[in-house]
Amino acid sequence: MEIKNTDLFKEQCYINGEWVNSNNNEIIKVNNPATLEIIGKVPKCGAEETKVAIEAANTSWNNWKGKSAKDRSIILRKWFDLIMSNQEDLAQIMTIEQGKPINESRGEIAYGASFVELYAEESKRVYGDIIPDPLLDRRIVVIKQPIGVVAAITPWNFPSSMITRKCAPALAVGCPVVIKPASQTPFSALALAVLAEEAGIPKGVLNIITGNANEIGQELSVSPIVRKLSFTGSTKIGKILLSQCASTVKKVSMELGGHAPFIVFEDANVDDAVLGAMQSKFRNSGQTCVCANRLFIHEKIYDEFLKKFTVAVSKIKVGNGLEEDVVSGPLIDAYSLEKVKEHVKDAVNTGAKIAVGGDMHELGGNFYKPTIISNVTTKAKITYEETFGPVAPLYKFKTEEEVIKMANNTPYGLASYFYSRDIGRIWRVSEALEYGMVGVNTGLTSKAEIPFGGIKESGLGREGSRYGLDDFLEIKYINMAGI
Ligand code: ADP
Repeated sequence: MEIKNTDLFKEQCYINGEWVNSNNNEIIKVNNPATLEIIGKVPKCGAEETKVAIEAANTSWNNWKGKSAKDRSIILRKWFDLIMSNQEDLAQIMTIEQGKPINESRGEIAYGASFVELYAEESKRVYGDIIPDPLLDRRIVVIKQPIGVVAAITPWNFPSSMITRKCAPALAVGCPVVIKPASQTPFSALALAVLAEEAGIPKGVLNIITGNANEIGQELSVSPIVRKLSFTGSTKIGKILLSQCASTVKKVSMELGGHAPFIVFEDANVDDAVLGAMQSKFRNSGQTCVCANRLFIHEKIYDEFLKKFTVAVSKIKVGNGLEEDVVSGPLIDAYSLEKVKEHVKDAVNTGAKIAVGGDMHELGGNFYKPTIISNVTTKAKITYEETFGPVAPLYKFKTEEEVIKMANNTPYGLASYFYSRDIGRIWRVSEALEYGMVGVNTGLTSKAEIPFGGIKESGLGREGSRYGLDDFLEIKYINMAGI
């Protein structure tokens, strides 16, 4: 890694404006998933340090919410400028800890920064309401206030943008935050804290704690001081956190697993659909919760799609993400690799055929070949479980009705995609898909301006856009009588 601003690489937690170790000096080692080399260490904190971070956040709350929206906006805007002026260094840090190709890391830094920019602007627009009262001598006023201390638990697949997507709206409306990043990718988070401090975010308002996920998660969920927990990660851990948060009736946002259908109708432009499938499936080596996980192709264009898709996937260059021309990096760890191998093996055992890939990459380590499996059956595990890897399973369908049924046959409901040029069908299918997000003739839908989120077991709440502010606000109604 070559970074100009070496201050960005921190191996300590950031609590109450100080860089600190864990109480017992225990550490977690962090590796580069491409080379398996240890790149650094971070403190292994637990419940005690989490309590300190929560207290610090609470103490800072009055001052932070007492600032004008404009003052908070100016600080956030500075944070945005600093992130963008350090984009290359932040991207380098991300690639060595996460493995994604350097160009994707650059893109993620800009994407993450765009939440800070958007919410610097939106902070000035936390409007209330005046409702006509049925009684003549009264007035009904509705105001929105910051909810209080926010806890954020984030995953390793988007080490920077999942933090800004939660923190920027929280900070914008006046909430302090305690963040627990994933242990695989803590350095991107800590680098953001360096820049937040430089931007003028006061001590205690933004805290980052690394360490034992169970202990930190438990403390963040049961603490009565924490009023809101925002989590992005697996549905399994999301359910644990939901039940833990029940004890304090905490407000929660959950961005959980997905199992995105990607449907190509017979009237679609097949070349566009192939491009969309490449972007949706193979970005971050298939390790995103919005990745196309089941590709349903109409029988009339199935062979054409498979042929063109196979040509495109065969050209993907796999390798260490620091090399400029690499477009697919390693999987995050051996556990993820095992799951991918198991899904492919099971699909083949239940009747599917490998069109390309289907095996470990010659580079060894955590590298798996970009893979297409065709004629996948409904018996295969991959039909029901999220793979989180570079594997595209293809299914053949005949009718619109049949494919909608297949697409909705999952407990998940995050992202979905379909390709069609028929305006009637576009409306019908968009409305029939039981998903929080629908991409029509596109495989890329994420941006700061949209309400990102899922239904069913994919989660609760929305992040991004003006809707993303609501998750960090309480509505208060004031009835004024005797007027
Ligand atoms: P993944 O399987 O993609 O790693 P996880 O849901 O396990 O997804 O992890 C997402 C985030 O949740 C990470 O920051 C991880 O450390 C954290 N985490 C894991 N287990 C727990 C837990 N029991 N309580 C709170 N956070 C947890």
